[in-house]
Amino acid sequence: MILRVVEEVLLTLLIVAGACGGIWTHRDARRRIEDPFFLWTATLLGLVPVLGPLLYALLRPPETLHDVQIRRLELRELEVGLTERGPFCHACGSAVKADFRLCPVCTTRLKKPCSSCGGLLQPNWLSCPWCAEPALEIPPVQADLDAALTAETAAAAAAGGN
Ligand SMILES: [Zn+2]
Ligand SMILES: [Zn+2]
Repeated sequence: MILRVVEEVLLTLLIVAGACGGIWTHRDARRRIEDPFFLWTATLLGLVPVLGPLLYALLRPPETLHDVQIRRLELRELEVGLTERGPFCHACGSAVKADFRLCPVCTTRLKKPCSSCGGLLQPNWLSCPWCAEPALEIPPVQADLDAALTAETAAAAAAGGN
């Protein structure tokens, strides 16, 4: 009689454990598995009391579908960001704005203003596309510095002469 009761209790426990495992496995699998065949295979496995859910937990895909989707979106964003990256300094690679005349980081000249209309020209353009004026070579900064130094030396010499 007692044996019978124990047997019934154990059987009930097994059924409850199986049902709980099945429900848990199904709910978890729905978040991780897209394919209905594998989803229901996992659910069936989950119905095996105790061992089923354990086995499922070992074999289930590590990422939920939500995680996978987020990862894909992040990857896409990264790709788009790489391909649609704005203009950058060809010397140091810093991001610059399209209307910058020089790179604020390394002071490389990026654009030169047209001597006639003031439009910003690429350094390799030979003519202004807006006013058709030939693009004039801008004297490099070094030359200006030399001229300034020469003028200063001359001024100093003149001052010394007096
Ligand atoms: Zn730069
Ligand atoms: Zn121009």
